Formats: sequence, C-alpha cells, structure tokens
Amino acid sequence: MRIALFGDIHANLEALEAVLADAREQGCTDYVCLGDLVGYNANPSECLEIVRAMNCPVVKGNHDEDASGDHSLDTMNPVAAQALMWTRENLTQEQRDWLRKMRMVRQVADFTIVHSTLDQPTNWNYVTNRFDAMSNFSYQFTQVCFHGHTHVPRIYVKDAKVHEVPAESVVIEPGAKYFINVGSVGQPRDGDWRSCYAIYDLENRLIVFRRIEYNIALTQKKIIDAGLPEMLAYRLEEGR
Ligand code: ZN
Repeated sequence: MRIALFGDIHANLEALEAVLADAREQGCTDYVCLGDLVGYNANPSECLEIVRAMNCPVVKGNHDEDASGDHSLDTMNPVAAQALMWTRENLTQEQRDWLRKMRMVRQVADFTIVHSTLDQPTNWNYVTNRFDAMSNFSYQFTQVCFHGHTHVPRIYVKDAKVHEVPAESVVIEPGAKYFINVGSVGQPRDGDWRSCYAIYDLENRLIVFRRIEYNIALTQKKIIDAGLPEMLAYRLEEGR
C-alpha cells in the first residue's frame, strides 16, 4: 500500500490539485492530511471540500482552529490575522463547524499523525531542530509519526540519540523511531517554491518526499484579486 501524506495546504487550490494528481500517478491508494487546510491563500472553501470529500484521516492545524472560531487574533502576526479574518468570511458556518470538530491526534495504520507535536499538540510548538524533536519523542508510542506546521520537510530519527537525516527518502529500520515533517503543499518555506508531500510505501517501509510544480501565477493572481495582503502572493515564489 502506498499512502500520500500531505498538509499545510493553506487554501492553495492549484497546489493541492497538482499534488493529488501526482499521488494518483505514483500509485497512492490512501491519503492522510496533516492539517492547515485554510489560511493565507484564496481558495479555502474549495480546498476544504476536496479534502472532506476524500474522507481520509485528517488532524487539525492552528489555522483550521483560528478560522473556525470567533476569538481575537490580536496576538497573531498581522498578515496571517488579516488572511484569517478573510478566511472566516469566505467559509460557511457549516464548514467552520467541520474544521472545529477535527481531531488533534490520530493513529492511522501503524503510525501517528499530529499537526505540530505530540507532547503539547494544542500549544502549536514549532519543531525546528533535534532538541525540539526530543520532547516529541517522549510522547511518541508508534515507530513513525508524521507532522507539519513549520512548512519545512524534515526527518528526525531517534536511535541511540536524536539526529536528522536529509528530507529526501528514508527506510524505516527496526529499533529506531521517526518523527517526519511532510513539508507544505500550499506555502513551502524551505526556499523551494514547489509543493511538498511524502509517500509512505508500507510494504517496503520506505518514505519518499516529492516536489511538485503547480500554476503559481494563477494562485498569486487569485490572492491579489481577493484583496489579500500582496506579500502572501510574493512569498510563494520565494518559497518563504
Ligand atoms: Zn501551516
């Protein structure tokens, strides 16, 4: 079985469609979504409905939570807050209720999924190095856990110690644990503008990252036309 793991879509419809087309071509039969379906870009409703119709396991991201509530966003970075206010207005109440009811942590097959970290999933901590990853491993009871949130693909391995291997591909070896960030479909931040997701080949215990081009010019035009902050369009081509 080949499972496509994708997240941080952030309302980027062109990127989501390109990733799902590639996953089908690659022979994926199952899908798992790591959250942050909405926020930043201009197609929240469309992206939400695509993922909902897939009826696949999905966990809640911080933007899903912020878009589903009516709480103040004053403490948030102003550009993200402006995009979230726009997102709230461009989702139906029923869609927002669906986002609110998403779960924080799930087990799928023999692995766990969470948007940020297992140690404090509702605090939305960012894992940016192996020391951050150590806190997660204390709460990880499956051999493999997939996550997102930083928009940067990463593979943390815990054997005798916690270390990182390049986010290209990895074979799951007995005796080690893996905490894997699948990168971002809709707003990558590792300097590469192309969408990122991962494929887990269960039989071969192999995880491979994929980078996929999409119609970025159309996504950028929609952001500008919607009146969203223009820097959200420019950052896409920088991969930041
Ligand atoms: Zn995100």
